[in-house]
Amino acid sequence: METVRFDELELNPQILRGIKDMGFEEASPIQAQAIPVVLRGRDIIGQAQTGSGKTAAFGIPVLEKVDPDNKKTQVIILSPTRELAIQVADEIRKLSKYMHGIKILPVYGGQEISKQIRSLKGGAQVIIGTPGRVMDHLRRKTIRCDFVNTIVLDEADEMLNMGFREDIETILEYIPEERQTVLFSATMPKAIMDITKKYQKDAVTIKVVKKELTVPSIDQYYYDVKRKDKVDVLTRLLDYYDPKLSIVFCNTKRMVDELASELQGRGYFAEGLHGDMKQSQRDRVMNSFRNGKTEILIATDVAARGIDVDDVEAVFNFDIPQDDEYYVHRIGRTGRAGRTGRAFTFVKGKEVYKLKDIQRYCKTKILAQPIPTSEDVAQIKAEKIMDKVSQIIEEEDLTAMINMIDEQVNESDYTSMDIAAAFLKMALGETESESESSDNYDFGNTGAEDGMVRLFINIGKKQKVKPGDILGAIAGESGMPGKLVGAIDMYDKYTFVEVPSEYGREVLNAMKNVKIKGKSISIEPANGK
Ligand code: ADP
Ligand code: MG
Repeated sequence: METVRFDELELNPQILRGIKDMGFEEASPIQAQAIPVVLRGRDIIGQAQTGSGKTAAFGIPVLEKVDPDNKKTQVIILSPTRELAIQVADEIRKLSKYMHGIKILPVYGGQEISKQIRSLKGGAQVIIGTPGRVMDHLRRKTIRCDFVNTIVLDEADEMLNMGFREDIETILEYIPEERQTVLFSATMPKAIMDITKKYQKDAVTIKVVKKELTVPSIDQYYYDVKRKDKVDVLTRLLDYYDPKLSIVFCNTKRMVDELASELQGRGYFAEGLHGDMKQSQRDRVMNSFRNGKTEILIATDVAARGIDVDDVEAVFNFDIPQDDEYYVHRIGRTGRAGRTGRAFTFVKGKEVYKLKDIQRYCKTKILAQPIPTSEDVAQIKAEKIMDKVSQIIEEEDLTAMINMIDEQVNESDYTSMDIAAAFLKMALGETESESESSDNYDFGNTGAEDGMVRLFINIGKKQKVKPGDILGAIAGESGMPGKLVGAIDMYDKYTFVEVPSEYGREVLNAMKNVKIKGKSISIEPANGK
């Protein structure tokens, strides 16, 4: 493979120094091809996958062209989100570290506009902004375009996904005709081609074909899991591998919300991230994920695009990605910066064929894996606890504790082995006994007719639930024929329902995580009358 060093690209020595400081060794393929074209002043359509270094591909040549003696705005870069605008501004600022008299300013919604206006008055040659906010400034004339000679549409597909098309077109109308229009995107849907036709002149297309799609240090596994078991398998894997940070991908925003509340309900530090959330919420979630307070980020493909957090140890495809290319984007969130990562994909039934396509496309192997059993999880937890215990024995002064145990052994019939075992059980925590007890329903006397068990559900008429909803949910979730459902007694806040004894356990298990009329329910054997 031919490689291009940055010093072969005839760049300004100050920029070369900045690049060197950033630790870049050689230009990435999109950079090697795009930088000379942008330097020549040509319009360009640059396509390369996420993480391929598109920011520097336009950032470097754009800086080459800026005149530091002119304080007026010369370059506008449009970016889909505040996150990305800040990331791009940071990267360009680093590149320009050794240049003098260059000001780079990000502007985005959510930040006080008066503050931005003050910064803008100081003069910024390079402005990076979200389309809505840039348009706002153009209308207020707080950004003026008289000297703008270059406009960059970064992550163009993403901007269109987020509904910025009109804003972008409005902005393009403001910029002088004599300009260079630069567009970068990970994918090239038709809507982008429309924009390029309308607003670019004789553009050069550079497409970096997908080579070396996946990083070899990512172990990739799949599990054959039914929809209703996915959450259990996910938590099992989280407990077993115990990744520091992980990202769980879902195909819909709704699934993100559902899974987030489900995992939170089970005590995991999980948060959802998707495009319907307010920017401030998204910032909060991202910060919390970056600093490790949130260990599990549940996201849609769109929301996760462009996130660069280095310590992600595992990626879960809770839903199999809709597009082969998404698979690559998703698993590329782990195994970054030379670290090892793991990617887990859940498939059910026919989806195994999609997995075949993905493997062919990525030239990679995704291996079938058995789901760790609860014993496996307990085993690995015990090993971790024992490691910790050895460390404490080695490093800490345990005299006082030894005396207390000694006393206990002398006063009771327990051996120190009994006591150690009891402590280990405690340290292993509730999970074990919980998973046992969840299947351990007490159907002793539920007050039902012969051959039936009576179940208690914590919703009723007040929640506008009708007997039909209960019947439908039970039949739908458990697969038990609806006609077998017995008496349904509804009260204001709860409901009793009878089902044949032999279905009792199955119904309870199937209904555990079900929502009725959008409300999470709890269901258990009723107490006898
Ligand atoms: P894209 O916009 O294509 O998704 P970015 O421009 O955000 O990708 O780059 C992804 C990461 O790679 C960033 O952390 C960036 O600093 C780094 N990077 C960019 N170019 C190079 C290079 N030539 N060598 C090493 N790392 C690079
Ligand atoms: Mg980018």
